[in-house]
Amino acid sequence: KLYNEVQDLKGNIRVYCRIRPFLPGQNQNHSTIEFAGEDGELIVSNPLKQGKDSRKLFKFNKVFGQAASQEEVFRDTQPLIRSVLDGYNVCIFAYGQTGAGKTYTMSGPSLSSKSDWGVNYRALHDLFHISHSRRNSIMYEIGVQMVEIYNEQVRDLLSTNGPQKRYPFSNSNKYTQMLWAAFYYKLSISYLSLNMHACFFIYQIKYCFLDLHTLGIWNTTQPNGLAVPDASMHSVNSMTDVLELMNIGMTNRATSATALNERSSRSHSVLSIHVRGTDLKTNTLLRGCLHLVDLAGSERVDRSEATGDRLKEAQHINKSLSALGDVIFALAQKSSHVPYRNSKLTQLLQSSLGGQAKTLMFVQLNPDVASYSETISTLKFAERVS
Ligand code: ADP
Ligand code: MG
Repeated sequence: KLYNEVQDLKGNIRVYCRIRPFLPGQNQNHSTIEFAGEDGELIVSNPLKQGKDSRKLFKFNKVFGQAASQEEVFRDTQPLIRSVLDGYNVCIFAYGQTGAGKTYTMSGPSLSSKSDWGVNYRALHDLFHISHSRRNSIMYEIGVQMVEIYNEQVRDLLSTNGPQKRYPFSNSNKYTQMLWAAFYYKLSISYLSLNMHACFFIYQIKYCFLDLHTLGIWNTTQPNGLAVPDASMHSVNSMTDVLELMNIGMTNRATSATALNERSSRSHSVLSIHVRGTDLKTNTLLRGCLHLVDLAGSERVDRSEATGDRLKEAQHINKSLSALGDVIFALAQKSSHVPYRNSKLTQLLQSSLGGQAKTLMFVQLNPDVASYSETISTLKFAERVS
């Protein structure tokens, strides 16, 4: 294999910690980060509550301090990303409370300057570069999908006709398509009979839906392939294509929400990069897939204050983040049962979590003392999965 570094990885799960710098206006005297070592050691404490047991030590595969640049972070992620071109499946997550720098790490603060680019743009840029350099031996095709998971509902962000309606028709198998064809046929027959008997029409419709329910085709099921079901796939050849698609993604994400930031902190966004390579000598095909996930904010919502939609959102987020934690924990323990089915996110990523697949979690921290308890709970999550 071309990338030996990947083979050096201990196990298939690694956890990096990244501390974001203080923002203008934050009091820099009260940092909870006491020590961030190059070898992956992190010591945190509460500067306002000094006591004997106040210092806590955590160990990561790597810690990126406040001064770490996007480029440095990418350098340690690159081997994993390149392994996709050798046929590996890779998932990279950013975990942490809102404001801790998840989006900064995954996407970057803006697209105007290349030095700001986060992991996803750099990954695509690198994949284009390497696939181009191998073009005499392997011909690669790259496709992307982008979805949002909000309240356990998956939405295609790259659908070109606005917010997508999810009919199980387009990307489904032959069997489902036949059922739909039968449904429409029945519907049209019903329409004809409407001219004669309106009641009969209602009867027909009712039974069409009943049939479909019993057959269970309203449930979206996980296909065997790597692709996200029912989300459009877009072929990309250059960064221009990618930036254009990302714009569509961001616009689609914004149209359904009054405040983009509000919504984006309560939904998971998943960018999936699919690679298909044909070896020109042996004519064999290899497939790899890279999922880049900007998770919903991990902050706990005060149950006494949250009501209605806010409470429902919080419950969905808790459920899916803990389901993700459970899956990674089971994989790290090499447990025989991995509970993929407990959330949409883990169902969606099932074929890229575990087995030969590689997982990287960025644990994002806000160094401000006001975030101390959230920082501890983020670190506890990380401790469990690493
Ligand atoms: P999250 O996605 O976790 O809610 P953001 O990525 O939006 O957090 O970061 C919150 C703020 O902190 C943004 O203004 C962002 O630009 C800034 N920020 C985050 N990480 C860094 C960093 N490593 N360097 C500089 N600014 C950062
Ligand atoms: Mg964000």
